[in-house]
Amino acid sequence: MKKCVQCGQTLSDDNRFCHKCGGSAFEEATGAGSYQQPAYQQPVYRPPYQEQPNAGNREPATIGDYIVFFLLQLIPIFNIVYTIIVAVGSPSRKISMTNLARAVLILWAIGLALGIVLSVIGAFSMFSLIGNHKYYY
Ligand SMILES: [Zn+2]
Repeated sequence: MKKCVQCGQTLSDDNRFCHKCGGSAFEEATGAGSYQQPAYQQPVYRPPYQEQPNAGNREPATIGDYIVFFLLQLIPIFNIVYTIIVAVGSPSRKISMTNLARAVLILWAIGLALGIVLSVIGAFSMFSLIGNHKYYY
């Protein structure tokens, strides 16, 4: 068996021209094997279902959730531990609170980095001032 390249008509091997479109170009009619390939793509669609365990805490955080979170931010040292625990997240914790805690941690990191940069700049300017004074003596 062979197949017309132009119209896909299946022909017997002794046909020299396609009796449907008149074309003379043929390929081996291995259609039965090649048409099974799409079936292999079906298992790939499974991963989205694995996210469902997190779907339970997709509900928005309430006003009370935010008030508790920010009240606990007022306690020194404990607030760092608490925010990291919330940021790591757990199946029972609301995803919006997890995102809030992550945002707070990022802001802390930015603040810490800015503080380090400013103190380094401050230290250098102090040293240069001391250096200048020595020149004047
Ligand atoms: Zn044809």
